[in-house]
Amino acid sequence: MFETIIGLEIHVELNTKSKIFCACSTEFGAPPNGNTCPICTGLPGTLPVLNEEAVKLAIRAGKALNCEINTINKFDRKNYFYPDLPKAYQVSQFDLPICEKGFIDIDVAGQQKRINLTRIHLEEDAGKLIHMEDQPLTLVDYNRTGVPLIEIVTEPDMRSAQEATTFLKALKAILEYAEISDCKMEQGSLRCDANISIRKIGQVKLNTRVEIKNINSFKEILKAIQKEEKRQRELYSFGEEYKIKQETRKWDSAKGKTVPMRSKEDAHDYRYFPEPDLLPVVIKEEQIQAISKGLPELPEKKRERFLKVYELSEKEIDILIAQKPLAEYFEEVVDLGTNPKEAANWIIGELLRALKEREEEAIPIKSEYLAGLIDIIDEGKISRSIGKEVFEELINTDKSPEEIIQERGLSQISGTDELHKIITDILSKNPQAIEDYKSGKAQAFGFLMGQTMKASKGKANPQSTKKILEERLGQL
Ligand SMILES: [Zn+2]
Repeated sequence: MFETIIGLEIHVELNTKSKIFCACSTEFGAPPNGNTCPICTGLPGTLPVLNEEAVKLAIRAGKALNCEINTINKFDRKNYFYPDLPKAYQVSQFDLPICEKGFIDIDVAGQQKRINLTRIHLEEDAGKLIHMEDQPLTLVDYNRTGVPLIEIVTEPDMRSAQEATTFLKALKAILEYAEISDCKMEQGSLRCDANISIRKIGQVKLNTRVEIKNINSFKEILKAIQKEEKRQRELYSFGEEYKIKQETRKWDSAKGKTVPMRSKEDAHDYRYFPEPDLLPVVIKEEQIQAISKGLPELPEKKRERFLKVYELSEKEIDILIAQKPLAEYFEEVVDLGTNPKEAANWIIGELLRALKEREEEAIPIKSEYLAGLIDIIDEGKISRSIGKEVFEELINTDKSPEEIIQERGLSQISGTDELHKIITDILSKNPQAIEDYKSGKAQAFGFLMGQTMKASKGKANPQSTKKILEERLGQL
């Protein structure tokens, strides 16, 4: 029997305003080559100046991911020739990265499993090539060149595509909570390479591994690893494992398979050497402590606290804390005195559905308005189903729930006069149902209730309606 060995390398663009060695903006979506200068495009005679904010964020990442921080680390030149890299070398870290070791604990089939990290190093991002479809032409945009990155390298600790995506989701949540990166995978702020190999269970040595480059969504990562796993397993089972070469493959999502990109033999010799234009980075112990203290509550701690403080299921808590803004919103609503269970129901049910429909991330309802709506339902002023109508309007307007209810006349009818009037009308229209009720058919009562609710357009208070209807039927 075989097992799959997976290690990941994750590139994360740091949340800095300017690039790692110059003052150019890191803003996404600027006109091509708009955010460039002689330093980030590597013109002769220019000198890099290290952005301290990038170093701080890398330390922050290291502390959030349980790493050791190398108080002396340095930059190296990683030489390779490719048009996305104007200097023909990338400034990265080789033998002295800023962070080493570290781990994340993930949940694998109900059991905790520790995924170890090898290192985190700082480096500059490369530019972007745009291959024109209709012409034999490639364009290059250097806006991304020099954007600060951390590369997080894991140990080969994962055993399935599922474990790898679980790990990545946990990693992304931590980086978002700690405000290290916006982690927008669709914009390339978080990109993942996966190293995959297969070996016989019990074997210690690792076999030849294949790297799949730049996969940028959880769904595609899962599919890419599964396909590569299957390809290698098939080659082993036919005794053709010699066909597995150490190479870089690309995930072709349209074809649903991995395809060769380049062989590792020639690409691997990067001829690293120390970057002579940058001094080694010296970090003071006090600085590390200050950054460590400044870390906000991370997902794991939040999960524990939510479990202790609010009476919610683990599943509900997992959904709420998977996105930092959602968890914060939930607490805002609850802090206004709302029942946590109700708040969680509305957020996980209605709010998430609405966000998905609108394909938006920003939460469109003020926390006090959602809290207000839940209170109004709780007080019996409107029914739950009317509450959902009010919710729809809350999403689309800036009005408060009270305003919406008043404007649309949605308050429940509890006043007995109005209810009596509706019930008189229903009873006169349904003599058969009254006969059935008298002869002991219980469902006839339900029918009359339903008719009354319908006639009131759902605004009748169910308790009052039931009481009055029982009285009136008793008198007949
Ligand atoms: Zn620049």
